[in-house]
Amino acid sequence: MISIEKINKNFGTVQALKDVSLEIGNGKKVVIIGPSGSGKSTLIRCINGLEKPTSGKIIVDGLEATAPKADMRRLCHDVAMVFQNFNLYPHKTVLENVTLAPIKVLKIPRDKAVENGKLYLERVGLSDKLDTFPAKLSGGQQQRVAIARALNMNPKIILFDEPTSALDPEMIGEVADVIADLAKGNKTLVIVTHEMGLAREVADELVFMDEGSIVERGTPAQLFDQSPNPRLRAFFSKVL
Ligand code: ATP
Ligand code: MG
Repeated sequence: MISIEKINKNFGTVQALKDVSLEIGNGKKVVIIGPSGSGKSTLIRCINGLEKPTSGKIIVDGLEATAPKADMRRLCHDVAMVFQNFNLYPHKTVLENVTLAPIKVLKIPRDKAVENGKLYLERVGLSDKLDTFPAKLSGGQQQRVAIARALNMNPKIILFDEPTSALDPEMIGEVADVIADLAKGNKTLVIVTHEMGLAREVADELVFMDEGSIVERGTPAQLFDQSPNPRLRAFFSKVL
């Protein structure tokens, strides 16, 4: 359970988040959409402690992530993140990328981390790339490694920040398919994306942000098909 209570985040004079509140139940798939600069990344970065809100509270599975002395190690166990630009370690092989943090941070025995890592790489269709370096992979393949790496941390929650935005169009589908497959499982997923097909397919709840606030939320059908909100319609007219 993620409980976001009235958070504000200022960067100098920029109010990136204004009184944002959101509850995300265990196992829920929440998709956040909205124009550039609306605060989507800032919001999910607050959930895993990469940003500290200026005010307000975030509680992740009973742990107050916004507390001054929050247990960042535990937050790191519970919450994994997949970034737009993959953020793989360039000098490590695919298998090393997927096993490094479980071994070093979670102290999982190497054999077990490797065994699990291979299973997750199989799940994302990369069993034949274990010893390959990231530079030799396509963007879609690199992002699938990043997803396998997140899974190998066995997190309760996975945050995705525009996971397909840096990909060539022909590779978006393979990554979206992996995410849609994950969405059938019981992990909590929070996904920022401009892929409206993915949003419609996986979201239990769709959240529309604009200018640092949550403007609309509901099921995909409610937002795509029923909402008359002019800001939302203007956004859809650009992305659909
Ligand atoms: P995009 O779709 O372009 O990724 P976004 O919705 O993720 O946009 P954010 O990155 O959360 O938007 O940014 C929200 C606002 O906060 C923007 O005005 C942005 O310029 C500002 N901002 C974000 N991070 C920083 C930072 N580290 N320093 C200063 N301003 C920031
Ligand atoms: Mg962003």
